[in-house]
Amino acid sequence: MSLNVADIRRQFPILEQQVYKKDLVYFDNAATTQKPQVVIDVLDEYYKKYNANIHRGVHFLSSHCTDATETARKTVQDFINAKHAHEIVFTRGTTESVNLVAQSFASEFINEGDEIVVTRMEHHSNIVPWQLVCEKYGAKLKVVDIYPDGTINMDSFKAALNAKVKIVAFTHVSNTLGTINDVQAMTRLAHNQDIPVLIDGAQAVQHTHVDVQEIDADFYVFSGHKIYAPTGIGVLYGKEEWLEKLPPWQGGGEMIDQVSFEKTTFNELPFKFEAGTPNYIGAIAMGEALSYVSNNGIDAIKKHEDDLLNYATERITTVDGVRIIGEAAQKSSVLSFVIDGIHPYDIGVLLDKTGIAVRTGNHCTQPLHDWYEIPGTVRASFAMYNTKAEIDYFMDKMQQVLEMLK
Ligand code: PLP
Repeated sequence: MSLNVADIRRQFPILEQQVYKKDLVYFDNAATTQKPQVVIDVLDEYYKKYNANIHRGVHFLSSHCTDATETARKTVQDFINAKHAHEIVFTRGTTESVNLVAQSFASEFINEGDEIVVTRMEHHSNIVPWQLVCEKYGAKLKVVDIYPDGTINMDSFKAALNAKVKIVAFTHVSNTLGTINDVQAMTRLAHNQDIPVLIDGAQAVQHTHVDVQEIDADFYVFSGHKIYAPTGIGVLYGKEEWLEKLPPWQGGGEMIDQVSFEKTTFNELPFKFEAGTPNYIGAIAMGEALSYVSNNGIDAIKKHEDDLLNYATERITTVDGVRIIGEAAQKSSVLSFVIDGIHPYDIGVLLDKTGIAVRTGNHCTQPLHDWYEIPGTVRASFAMYNTKAEIDYFMDKMQQVLEMLK
């Protein structure tokens, strides 16, 4: 099955916009994706016709929203092939999911002298939450090295694992390098030493088939807004055995069973981790977005995006003084580069005036940029609705911009 990209583009109203009287070329998909009409319709319909707080109402609207939220949970379960729906916890996004696990896990399992392992290519949101708990509990953060091509140094990974390590956290796909890590092999190595893993899937679920049981992930996290769903909704998948072991993170309504001033008991999974009113309409819309992706076919999406990435890589390589940051054989949808003697920011600002949205800067991976000794990169990141014609336009404009800046 191949994608009908022209048809897909018509389903994303924002893509019809012009900016500065130029057709919008949206290459900032790693930051957030645009929303198809079906997702916008769900938001519109639910706020117009069904809105009522879930789980606590006996009336029609509340029951309707509760059912739709739990159906969305099931959709997420199927999408990543989790064993149980109650292994899916709704959060605000990847960042909140990592913080939830880091704080809850550490309060139970991290003691002074323990170690937590991350890799050099992590997003700040898979570094800082671990740093915070290391500081609080007197643990040490260990960093796995990478090679200059942007792949994990597996010797460094193996060397980092020992009896002191209590959890390993790594990204599935790097938001800066595009590298697809062999998360299954990494998980196996950690499990060989009885160490649980958290995998940051923020840049993976929208581009490639994810099966959390096949990977054997203990925790797998992602954000709705990067997979065509609204902002403010995300997922924490945790194996039942782990979620049962972790204490609640936040207290409040929904997450309790019985409350008294003497003792409170907690709700069953997944509600134990969903304190307060969740973004249930966001969750319902995320379910719609995941169905939209499934209906188009994740393999067809991957093939299209791989074609775009290969084409863009081929074309950018012909530019004088270009250096691509991230040259792994297994890459997904992200093309980051620097050009000799030109600041990435200047390129981004001038491209913007031509209608092209790219991201410049360190993409929340400052330690990675420091390691490459670069101030930032220009990052073009692709989604299912992008086209080769857009890449051709981007390359034309890049040539003009470079002539202006040289
Ligand atoms: N991890 C990766 C790899 C990311 O690319 C991002 C966002 O750019 C995040 C985590 C954080 O996601 P969010 O800001 O949606 O919580």
